[in-house]
Amino acid sequence: MPTALIIGASRGIGHEMVRQYRLDGWRVIATARKREDCDELAQLGAVSYQLDVTSADSIAALGWQLDDEQVDLAWIVAGVYGPEHASFPTGPEFDAVMHTNVLGPMRLVPIVAPLVATRHGKLAVLSSKMGSIGARSSTEGTLYRASKAALNSVLADTAITYGAQGATCVAFHPGWVQTDMGGSGATLTVEQSVTALRATLAGLDTSSNGAFLNYDGSPIPW
Ligand code: NDP
Repeated sequence: MPTALIIGASRGIGHEMVRQYRLDGWRVIATARKREDCDELAQLGAVSYQLDVTSADSIAALGWQLDDEQVDLAWIVAGVYGPEHASFPTGPEFDAVMHTNVLGPMRLVPIVAPLVATRHGKLAVLSSKMGSIGARSSTEGTLYRASKAALNSVLADTAITYGAQGATCVAFHPGWVQTDMGGSGATLTVEQSVTALRATLAGLDTSSNGAFLNYDGSPIPW
């Protein structure tokens, strides 16, 4: 049975990924920050672990828990938007966004990517078109944009290191999605976004290693 690992699955896009992969008969390992969310993920049939991506100890514990695992697909989904108009963020605002969106994935990659590379599988991070420098037309959400641009850099390094070991590593924009982060006015339902993301990732081969893609598979400038 193929195995998918979803990091950040309590709600939104990550939670829908768990639901869809389970429906398709996949074995799913999922993480959530709160105990009660882990219990709910277990009810969906996932193997669940508690993880706060801002905690080095929590990430180290996940490393031990996943020690014997091999995974076909890994999605690093957890993220925060932070303050709406943080053109002059406070230190704590900066730290909160960067720790979640950048430092978390930086620490997770050395744990997760080897599990994927062993199976010549795929590792995807949920970035955002807002992190694109080449496609930039607005300055709203400056701090969030900077965090996703930095995440893209982490992904590019990951693709070099673990692509050489057989993994295909990509950054995705999931579209503008109706979640707590995207809001109710977003253009895509969470089901539509996740259906497209899963299909696109499934269709990729190693030639896409290091790509930044829209949910439908079209390329996004870095
Ligand atoms: P939501 O706000 O709905 O969910 C965010 C998820 O991240 C929750 O599961 C949350 O867990 C988790 N999370 C946040 N901080 C931590 C942490 N410290 N440790 C563990 N988990 C954490 O967001 P979406 O589902 O909409 O977004 C998912 C990803 O997609 C994000 O990375 C986002 O930046 C990206 N994205 C979303 C877009 C959209 O339109 N929705 C557009 C572009 C990108 P908890 O419940 O514990 O808070």
